[in-house]
Amino acid sequence: MTKEEALVKVKGYLTDYLPWDSVDEIDEIIKALEPNIGQWMPNHIPGSMLYKCDQCGYDRGAYSFKYCSNCGAKMKG
Ligand SMILES: [Zn+2]
Repeated sequence: MTKEEALVKVKGYLTDYLPWDSVDEIDEIIKALEPNIGQWMPNHIPGSMLYKCDQCGYDRGAYSFKYCSNCGAKMKG
């Protein structure tokens, strides 16, 4: 099941019990629960090998991690 299919199913279950004008609010809730999209950036400190999360500024020793371990942002690439 893809993420999109899962969201459709969840909305289907929820809207069986909620008025239709709640659908927009459900969209907002689901969007808020999704991780931020971030990117590892060089930290521009001379001689430093660290990369930082562009969402929270957390320094990390490598840029290969898929998620920031500080803020949970999902990293591009
Ligand atoms: Zn972060």
